Amino acid sequence: MYRTVFFPNKLYEIDANNKIVHWSPYNGKVLPGYMFAGTGFWDTFRALYPFLNLVYPSINKEMQEGLINDYKEGGWLPEWSSPAYANIMVGNNSASVVSDAYIKGLRGYDIEILWEALKKGANNTGPMAAVGRDGVKFYNELGYVPFDAGFHENAAKTLEYAYDDFAIYNLGRALGKPESEIGIYAKRSMNYKNLFDPSSGLMRGKNKDGSFQSPFSPFKWGGAFTEGNSWHYTWSVFHDVAGLSKLMGGKDKFVMKLDSVFSLPPIFDESAYGGVIHEIREMQIANMGQYAHGNQPIQHMIYLYNYGGAPWKTQYWVRETMNRMYSATPDGYCGDEDNGQTSAWYVFSSMGFYPVTPAVNEYVLGAPLFKKVTLNLENGKTIVINAPKNSDENRYVNALKINGKPYSKNWLNHMDLQKGAVLDFDMSATPNKKRGTNEADFPYSFSTENTHK
Ligand code: CA
Repeated sequence: MYRTVFFPNKLYEIDANNKIVHWSPYNGKVLPGYMFAGTGFWDTFRALYPFLNLVYPSINKEMQEGLINDYKEGGWLPEWSSPAYANIMVGNNSASVVSDAYIKGLRGYDIEILWEALKKGANNTGPMAAVGRDGVKFYNELGYVPFDAGFHENAAKTLEYAYDDFAIYNLGRALGKPESEIGIYAKRSMNYKNLFDPSSGLMRGKNKDGSFQSPFSPFKWGGAFTEGNSWHYTWSVFHDVAGLSKLMGGKDKFVMKLDSVFSLPPIFDESAYGGVIHEIREMQIANMGQYAHGNQPIQHMIYLYNYGGAPWKTQYWVRETMNRMYSATPDGYCGDEDNGQTSAWYVFSSMGFYPVTPAVNEYVLGAPLFKKVTLNLENGKTIVINAPKNSDENRYVNALKINGKPYSKNWLNHMDLQKGAVLDFDMSATPNKKRGTNEADFPYSFSTENTHK
């Protein structure tokens, strides 16, 4: 929890007249209003910002105001701010940070300016590859950033842009924008399908002519991917896991594919980097197969068993990861902590749920670590999470009640939690392989949202 709230840093202070002022890294002036820095959205869009929206929304409201100032003073939203714009990592994940805040209920700032900023970033190359969208012309024309057109980490970019397009679409719906304006983002959000290779059942780089990049090794780090390999990035379909599951041949095959991540050996091909980067070494030492919790791309993957009707496998692996990858010792982290993201994973997971799809007001269920957690929300309400039978052995959810009523779904609604809630987990040493197996109880996916209540 301490590490979770370390970042981002405040770049503002209160002047002699009690006014909020910040130093602008864009023009060197001292200007009114908030600004923050010291965060990389590639990491922190996943769980850190969703955590702020749940527990510290008033602070993230200040951060959203800071993003407005970034845009006004620099012309773009930052993706990696240390401070201002740094040419680090990929994606256009400011879309997720902005959309999740508004969709989770934050108000009181000029969302219309941020809406304009998101659209600009999504449809233009920026002043450097990591701002705006590198390869946007190809992405918009072909539906992917090609492997053989000089854009590095092109598959990672494609997959993250597709999710970011969904985040923009969902924000547009929340703002009441017409379909003529936002429909294009819904369409592009399906671009992840363009990189799915049926022969391997994995995501793979694609060339301009539509052929897959060859030779292809799913164990190869870098190249088409960012600090990870195809086994890590194949799951980067945060908004449409049901669609991904369908591509893989249905939920049983999907679950088998998830199992493969853990059953494969921790082998790797580092040739694209010309050496073993620390993230590779961390996966090897972690010894959980291809599950590389020391880096961000795969951190949501354990929760995807809920979309295949095997939530007990989520419950098992979440506990294994908390036990093996975190300890209160000098070497207690399994890799770069990365601005609160790897800590936010733990804090969410220890409460028993995780934001697999930021920009959707839901959390996917895991299983709590503690016998009791009380969350004091800023609005004065409390969320109480009871699991009196919890132990290292009793790590499985036999049953769940919310506010005294039996609850069969694999997910929680953010807005319901905001009203205050009591969650009673009945924990067991034996997996309940029936709970959460009906598709009607699966978490949100864009392609099945009409059936999702
Ligand atoms: Ca990292």
